[in-house]
Amino acid sequence: MYYGFDVGGTKIEFGAFDEQLNRVATERVPTDTGDYQRLIQSIAEIVERYDEKFGEKGLVGLGIPGMEDADDGTVLTVNIASANGKPMRADLEAAIGRSVRIENDANCFALSEAWDEEFRQSPSVMGLILGTGFGGGLVYDGKIFSGRNHVAGEMGHMRVSIDAWFFLGDNPPLLQCGCGKKGCLDNYLSGRGFELLYAHDYGEKKSAPDIINAYEQGEKDATEFVNKFLEFLSICFANLFTANDPHVVVLGGGLSNFDLLYEELPKRIPQYLLSVAKCPQIVKARHGDSGGVRGAAFLNIR
Ligand SMILES: [Zn+2]
Repeated sequence: MYYGFDVGGTKIEFGAFDEQLNRVATERVPTDTGDYQRLIQSIAEIVERYDEKFGEKGLVGLGIPGMEDADDGTVLTVNIASANGKPMRADLEAAIGRSVRIENDANCFALSEAWDEEFRQSPSVMGLILGTGFGGGLVYDGKIFSGRNHVAGEMGHMRVSIDAWFFLGDNPPLLQCGCGKKGCLDNYLSGRGFELLYAHDYGEKKSAPDIINAYEQGEKDATEFVNKFLEFLSICFANLFTANDPHVVVLGGGLSNFDLLYEELPKRIPQYLLSVAKCPQIVKARHGDSGGVRGAAFLNIR
């Protein structure tokens, strides 16, 4: 059995998967953001309960909104104060008596999609999440590539490139990121960025679904804005594709439901790539909200 935990800022989702990778159990518990021992205990209790149910010791993977320090194993989890700075893997391993794997949740999302039937044979899959924030993950030959410091795929904290910046117009907003830097893609390519840029250009606050709706009605400002955003997105994506040259790109998060992306990006991106490069296949995530749990469980597939 493969056990996956998607540890979020408010809830922990658990999923158990059999050898055929079918999900056979699901559970959700609140995240204890105040008491670290209780947070570890709540995960350990689920593991023990399902071990008993399945009559075997499942392999355990955790997806977290952050990453492990590559040298001392403490985790950086800004959204989960109780776990921040704690050696979560070592503590959980001690509690359940087996090894545990921990990965960034966006990497788990990418891994989940890479293990989809359709993409299993793809040598490289890039997952990109256009959600509240912008983030991603890289999977090569069915395995996450997380780099020296577990920050590979943290594409949301790359800065807007100069050509994309000029594309935003005369006086684009230089947005402050939660990581302490300015101009990170996280603030521009996310649903939040989409709304902020619209408000900046038109002096009017509108939700992303409302802007998309207005675009679909042919409203002038929304049409102009969506066209500009698509071009901006194309420049940013082209830079990521030039650095990584993925075979498949899977999009997740709220903005990934905007069907126009799959029509427009393949038309707009090639002009920003090297002339020999083709635009990779760009598809919508197959596993939606369960991607985090699936990917966490699949961390133990060898
Ligand atoms: Zn940042």
